[in-house]
Amino acid sequence: MIKIIPLGGTDDIGASCIYLNIDGTGLLLDCGVHPKKKGIDSLPELDLLDNLPLDYVFISHAHQDHIGALPILIKKFPHVIIYATPQTQEIANLTLHNAVTILEKDFNDLSLILYSHEEIDLLVKSIIAVEYNDEIQLKGLRHKSLEPIIVQFYDAGHILGSASILIKYKHKSYFYTGDIRISPQQIMNGAKLPRYLIDTLLTETTYGSVSLKNLPELKEEKKRFAKAINKILGKGGSVLIPVFALGKTQEILSIIHSLIKKNELTDVPVYTGGVGTKISQVYDKNRFIVNVRDKNFEISKIPQENLYNITDPTYFNRKPGIVLAASGMMIENTTSFKLAKHWLRQKDFGIFFVGYVDIDSPACRIYSAKKNQKVQLTDFSEPIELKCEIDKFSFPSHSDRYEIFSIIGKYKPDQVILLHGENNSRDWFGYNILKEFPNIKVYAPTTGSEILIES
Ligand SMILES: [Zn+2]
Ligand SMILES: [Zn+2]
Repeated sequence: MIKIIPLGGTDDIGASCIYLNIDGTGLLLDCGVHPKKKGIDSLPELDLLDNLPLDYVFISHAHQDHIGALPILIKKFPHVIIYATPQTQEIANLTLHNAVTILEKDFNDLSLILYSHEEIDLLVKSIIAVEYNDEIQLKGLRHKSLEPIIVQFYDAGHILGSASILIKYKHKSYFYTGDIRISPQQIMNGAKLPRYLIDTLLTETTYGSVSLKNLPELKEEKKRFAKAINKILGKGGSVLIPVFALGKTQEILSIIHSLIKKNELTDVPVYTGGVGTKISQVYDKNRFIVNVRDKNFEISKIPQENLYNITDPTYFNRKPGIVLAASGMMIENTTSFKLAKHWLRQKDFGIFFVGYVDIDSPACRIYSAKKNQKVQLTDFSEPIELKCEIDKFSFPSHSDRYEIFSIIGKYKPDQVILLHGENNSRDWFGYNILKEFPNIKVYAPTTGSEILIES
């Protein structure tokens, strides 16, 4: 019997963490934090592990909603062995340290800082890096059979180093998509799925509720993006693009660069900085090893100005440019959040969203507000009148619902477990799987519920 217990990241995006007990061996897939929550509230339900065997943790990729709680897990269970791809290990070294730095700035109360830079150093060193497709053989301390569990990472095409995870045990296989993108993006070349039967599929459902008309063709969207930026620049304004430091920064920067090169976009300074710039260097360093579209392309060679050299935001009134600033959801006190306070008041400026925004995040509040209406970035912040242009563009780093559905159609697994999506996304999948493949058993588990599967 295989027991599966999701500890977080079921009906929303955040704190992804799934526990598997395979014949006495305890495995965790991911251990993330919730981006909108703070401290203990942001963690998965790690207390549910207290009386369960736990031997290994596999990290699918270095986004905070998949890795952010790893330092806490290792404090609680220091014996656990961590596996990730070499690229995820390298990025984790930057992003986990960055998370500590942010916490130190944010909280005067040191008790809310749950771990230190020294602990991150040790943790990152202890990760066992495994390349895509290499086989790992495992047997936990209390493993009840002579047969080992075999685990492999597959390129998930989502960001640098991202992996789906295939687990094989006693002629049965379990495939966890992690965050996956099958079609190419500007840099990443798309996921590589296993040529293997899959009995149980654990899939993300991020875009399950989004129909294709809201996810336009990449080529068309790039044109609309260039046109909208040109319009702002033509008025002498600047454009703010809130982005995740990891993945979105690199993809959007590359799109902007290609548009400028093709003369479709006005050539103005592009501002970047912080951990995003360091992550771009990791992308460049690994470009010959991973599946990127153009191995000769280096992100660091794109002309960029350092955003952190500019302390006065009125600078952008005098010198129009394009600003890529984290965080993507404009979480309180991040660079994009601070810049938004200036941007919102400028009628010739624009704030353009390019990725997933959580309901009720400051980004979502801005996006939902109407021109000349007051917008409150957080419950306690002073309302600001929205004067600037707001638009949203779709450059997804996740598969749309039809691509995810094609994975289900390809393998026709015995069971599908729907994760990492809002309930209306999971509902779309549930309804359509049962309609098209009535023999597939569908689970949309809640956090802490148990799924038992015959092995
Ligand atoms: Zn991700
Ligand atoms: Zn995710």
